[in-house]
Amino acid sequence: MKIEEFDLVIAGTGAAGMSAALRAEALGAKIALVEKSAYVGGTTAISGGVVWAPNNHHQRAAGHEEDRDLLRAYMKRVSQDRGDESLFDTYIDELPRAIRFLEERAEFEFTPLLDYPDYQPELIGGREGGRSLDNPLYDTKRLGVDRPLLRRNLVNGALPLTIGEAMAYRVFSNPFGLPYQEIVQRGKDGIVHGGAALIGRMLERLLRAGIRPRLGAAAKRLHLEDGGVGGVYVEEGGETLLLKARRGVVLASDGFEWDPELCAQFLPIEMKHPLSPPHNTGDALRMAHSVGAALRTMNEAWWTPAVQIPGETVDDIAPLHRGEFSIRCLPHAIIVNRRGRRFTNEARNYNDMTKPFFDQDSSRHEPRNLPAFLIADGQYLERYIFLAASRGRPIPEFIPHADSLEALAEKTGIDPTGLVDEVARWNEFSARGEDPDFGRGSSAFDRFYGDPEAPVHPNFGPISRPPFMALPIHPGAMGTKGGPRVDRHARVLSVEGEPIKGLYAAGNAQGSIFGAGYPGAGATIGQAILFGTLAAEHAAG
Ligand SMILES: Cc1cc2nc3c(=O)[nH]c(=O)nc-3n(C[C@H](O)[C@H](O)[C@H](O)COP(=O)(O)OP(=O)(O)OC[C@H]3O[C@@H](n4cnc5c(N)ncnc54)[C@H](O)[C@@H]3O)c2cc1C
Repeated sequence: MKIEEFDLVIAGTGAAGMSAALRAEALGAKIALVEKSAYVGGTTAISGGVVWAPNNHHQRAAGHEEDRDLLRAYMKRVSQDRGDESLFDTYIDELPRAIRFLEERAEFEFTPLLDYPDYQPELIGGREGGRSLDNPLYDTKRLGVDRPLLRRNLVNGALPLTIGEAMAYRVFSNPFGLPYQEIVQRGKDGIVHGGAALIGRMLERLLRAGIRPRLGAAAKRLHLEDGGVGGVYVEEGGETLLLKARRGVVLASDGFEWDPELCAQFLPIEMKHPLSPPHNTGDALRMAHSVGAALRTMNEAWWTPAVQIPGETVDDIAPLHRGEFSIRCLPHAIIVNRRGRRFTNEARNYNDMTKPFFDQDSSRHEPRNLPAFLIADGQYLERYIFLAASRGRPIPEFIPHADSLEALAEKTGIDPTGLVDEVARWNEFSARGEDPDFGRGSSAFDRFYGDPEAPVHPNFGPISRPPFMALPIHPGAMGTKGGPRVDRHARVLSVEGEPIKGLYAAGNAQGSIFGAGYPGAGATIGQAILFGTLAAEHAAG
């Protein structure tokens, strides 16, 4: 078997792996960066790229100071008391430092999103803006011939907008008011935004330092040596080789959302709609487990509702699931189950609003709320975009539509009496802008994703004018949260609570420190950048 020797072997090229690589490179370590897929960037490259970094220097410069006790209280509460409280101070103190390093090393500056609310801003210590950071646009021409290495964002990569711009244009509530020509031109010119911009910059810096990610190289099994982890067996080009690691192996690779068996064992629902690229199959979890790692947060994911356009695929091997972030928050749209009943606050943050999709009917042993449908009407269509339907164009056949709610119910199998009744109830709520059933619109977060120009309330509007549409909507996830427990140096801890020598984990490969919660926009990439950086500092420092 071929053997190669390094200081550090890093698996995965998302935010976690790239952060580890950048930091280790700066510390002078000899590193191997292996990536299972054919592209650099993972889920990070198709993401909004926002980083939730409370206490960051941009926020402070804008006058948004943090109170540590309140911030800790928020993190504890939002994690539903299942977070790793021993690491909250690490997040508060060390992520801002990691962000500064990243900015200096990759030569850019984040912008604070001063109006982007935390995901539960009304909880103690929650805020209505300032903690989330936005990426500037990035010109992929800077990568030269290596440009094709960067994973493409299939959902909105053709419309490169910073999150700040998207907010200013009101991209969801004013979709016909965007300067499309200019934005499309950016896309044609090779400009990218969000997570692709973040990864593009990191990749450029690494390539300049002579570090080239090894694509199509999957870390599969740990090599044990001297009472610890001394390397990793990698499948590359049809062969297995051993990459020895003098100082450590960083598992910055995968959650397990694309492994049906692991999902069936640990998650509360059948995972049919992961939003990540289809390479996150639990390799990191299996490797960590095989050497006695303690696990945490195994039954949680970064939950997000998903919709699909038939025929769309990722890497030609899996269907593309699109996160549904907007339709459900806008006026003239609700979500119902097959009985025609609403069952969640549609406009709540995606992590929390998805959980009622899991409710079980305990007498029938079947999901109470599935299948579920996004229902909207002609008024919606006049103002906004309904996935692939918009005004002045025929509604695509894959979106069931009809001229009456009864006919729509017949087409979709929704109970007609329930649907008609529920829509009448919703219309009553819409007239007064209040939802006594689920509290829609009661949080600053709900309103942030609504339409500020809606006559009664940003999240309310009646469903009363044909055509009526019903789009299937599914419980999905950006990635899983379960994995090995880590300490403040990102060292993987054993079931006895001791660090396993030579083994680190970061990002969605680690057991999340946020338990059942999602504190704010960017908390998953924040965790990935932080623990990737800490792993490199401990191993290579
Ligand atoms: C549409 C969308 C928008 C999002 N927006 C945001 C946002 O704005 N802010 C935010 O914080 N989060 C966001 N997320 C979630 C976020 O993108 C991910 O949770 C985060 O990027 C995970 O980073 P990571 O480095 O842990 O993993 P990934 O970015 O998924 O990278 C893991 C990499 O490891 C590779 N890999 C897998 N197995 C192996 C192996 N055995 N060996 C080697 N390599 C392997 C994978 O191919 C992948 O490239 C979004 C997600 C989606 C889908």
